[in-house]
Amino acid sequence: MALTLYKKKRSFKDTPEPTGGKANGGELHFVVQKHDATRLHYDFRLEMEGVLKSWAVPKGPSLNPEDKRLAMMVEDHPYDYKDFEGIIPEGNYGAGTVIVWDEGTYEPLEPTGDKAKDEKALLKQLKSGSVKINMHGHKLKGEFALVHLKNGKDDNAWLLIKHRDKYAKETDVTKKDKSVVTGKTITQTEKTSTNIWGSNRAAKKSAFQKAEETTGKTTKKAAAITAASAKTAVKKKPAPKRPA
Ligand code: MN
Repeated sequence: MALTLYKKKRSFKDTPEPTGGKANGGELHFVVQKHDATRLHYDFRLEMEGVLKSWAVPKGPSLNPEDKRLAMMVEDHPYDYKDFEGIIPEGNYGAGTVIVWDEGTYEPLEPTGDKAKDEKALLKQLKSGSVKINMHGHKLKGEFALVHLKNGKDDNAWLLIKHRDKYAKETDVTKKDKSVVTGKTITQTEKTSTNIWGSNRAAKKSAFQKAEETTGKTTKKAAAITAASAKTAVKKKPAPKRPA
């Protein structure tokens, strides 16, 4: 399963988003990220065959079986993306703030107890356009279905629907608006996150400046001894490397 499209859309020297990662453990993971991009949406991601099958859900998931939430299938994301929380800088694909709104494990409605077998069954469901799962998250619990709208104008359109079970609720689950990892809202994350490309650049810059300062000191020291040695020191001053 290639992440070609995912990688094509991003410049990894400019964004702190992950490039890959390997699935581990005996369970299948899911994540729902709240993403304050051009339009606020929720990214619903299910681990399958080592990557995250992904849907953008404009209104976010619902625990009310009456709600059928539009879920637009997007490109597979790398497994490590499930832990990503931070800021995608301006000018990059999906620029904006991301929090881990919910996370946990999931399985098919009839789990076999074998991850590989479960994955195979889920991939078959995905292909057929109807994925039925049991979710074990902090906010999302119980049975959910993802159903492909085959007659829709858009080939990527699916519906995310909560099944009727003891976890079904009429209250709006998106009102629980904090990250399950940090306890911060999107706004708080935007203000406090250090996972920003800009801050990485600042750190690199200061290291670069430090290097320049050190070189400068060496030159002055040399100048204090003799003019000749100073000249040599200047000549020997290595061309400073620009941060990549
Ligand atoms: Mn998104």
